[in-house]
Amino acid sequence: MYDAVVVGCGPAGTTAAYHLAKKGLKVAAFDKEKFPRYKSCGGCVSVKGKKALGFDITDVVENTVRGITFSYKSARTLAIDSVVPIGYSVMRDSFDAFLLDKARLAGAHILEGERVSRFTDRADSVTVETSKGVYEGLFLIGADGAASVVRRGVEDRPYTNYHISLTAEVKADKEAVERLGGRYLVDFGTIPHGYGWIFHKREGLSIGIAGLYCRVGNRIRDYFKCFVEGQDTLRGLNIGETRGWTIPVYHGQAQRAFKGRVLVAGDAGHLVDPFLGEGIYYAIKSGQLAASAVCAAIDGPRRDLSCYEDMLRAELYGEFEASAGIERLIYNYPRIWYRILEMNPSLMHDYYSVIRGDTGCGVFYEELSSRIRKKPWKFLRGLLGHMLNPSEAI
Ligand SMILES: Cc1cc2nc3c(=O)[nH]c(=O)nc-3n(C[C@H](O)[C@H](O)[C@H](O)COP(=O)(O)OP(=O)(O)OC[C@H]3O[C@@H](n4cnc5c(N)ncnc54)[C@H](O)[C@@H]3O)c2cc1C
Repeated sequence: MYDAVVVGCGPAGTTAAYHLAKKGLKVAAFDKEKFPRYKSCGGCVSVKGKKALGFDITDVVENTVRGITFSYKSARTLAIDSVVPIGYSVMRDSFDAFLLDKARLAGAHILEGERVSRFTDRADSVTVETSKGVYEGLFLIGADGAASVVRRGVEDRPYTNYHISLTAEVKADKEAVERLGGRYLVDFGTIPHGYGWIFHKREGLSIGIAGLYCRVGNRIRDYFKCFVEGQDTLRGLNIGETRGWTIPVYHGQAQRAFKGRVLVAGDAGHLVDPFLGEGIYYAIKSGQLAASAVCAAIDGPRRDLSCYEDMLRAELYGEFEASAGIERLIYNYPRIWYRILEMNPSLMHDYYSVIRGDTGCGVFYEELSSRIRKKPWKFLRGLLGHMLNPSEAI
């Protein structure tokens, strides 16, 4: 019998397994894939994500991000640099394999290529069925990503608030990568309720586009094509294979994170920032909280996981609520937001500080709303332009 069984070995699962094993608990972590495996992702680990890990990741960092070029519908570019790093580019195959090794070295029993098909939550343990056998643990951590099978046992309410994405890993020579000037590129306005990106890696570019499913519908390929055709950096490059995936963004304090002896972390817990789509940091953070909740349940008198939801509320949900406010302001009025950004580039320095984890998201949301409140006529002028010229707006 294991103290804890972890399903999924992305950043959430390996972080939970690492911390549980470090505490001396007996933990098994399953993944349906063998590592290194592909994961559809921009691969930007924010400074706060790197700090949260608490160990060195230099070996898997491709480059350091010190600036972003913004554009609106692939035009009106605006480069905003930062003197200190904002994040780090990784390839998810090597980054996730690196985290998996850390968990293994800490003492977790890692079982790759073994898919979990179902589980049964009993009064005093959880039974897990995989493609190769049946296992038993005191507690179960579902960290099996956006299409989580574990989540279905925790909450079966329909969820429609997710974002959809289309990505490609593009081989590019040094000259093409240098066209980005060492910065990421982020484009607003090409896709409804979302953005497009080009992130540079050591040997190429991770490109993608993502937006709220109920606004994008089945037009993701059209928006992707429009984005690729509009970007000078991508001119002449072979885009190659594209891959679609969902991004399960946070959708409110009522979302469930545990039931009985089972909890969900990372994407399985719908713990993704609703504005930026950042999920790696939240996977790491919720993996740590999941490990703490399991330790508390094993040591404590109540032997249940309710403290996990309290921890998420205290540490993450406030940030997500503020981010959801930013999401509504920016994605409902992308043209107005872009105008505000052009007039106040320093706003982005404040947001970089949020990405680094130096400032809370709530502080930035207040700052953004107060700029609109202080000069409402500018906002109204933009809104009027938006209404009179809807073809310009998405
Ligand atoms: C297009 C796109 C771009 C993104 N870009 C960024 C970015 O630049 N920065 C950022 O911070 N976040 C980004 N994200 C979000 C980020 O990728 C996720 O939030 C993060 O990977 C979540 O980690 P996780 O461990 O919860 O899940 P995952 O990383 O999805 O890991 C889940 C694991 O579970 C395994 N699994 C699934 N089902 C089973 C099963 N039944 N049995 C056993 N194993 C199973 C999978 O094989 C996988 O290894 C992006 C997401 C997308 C889709």
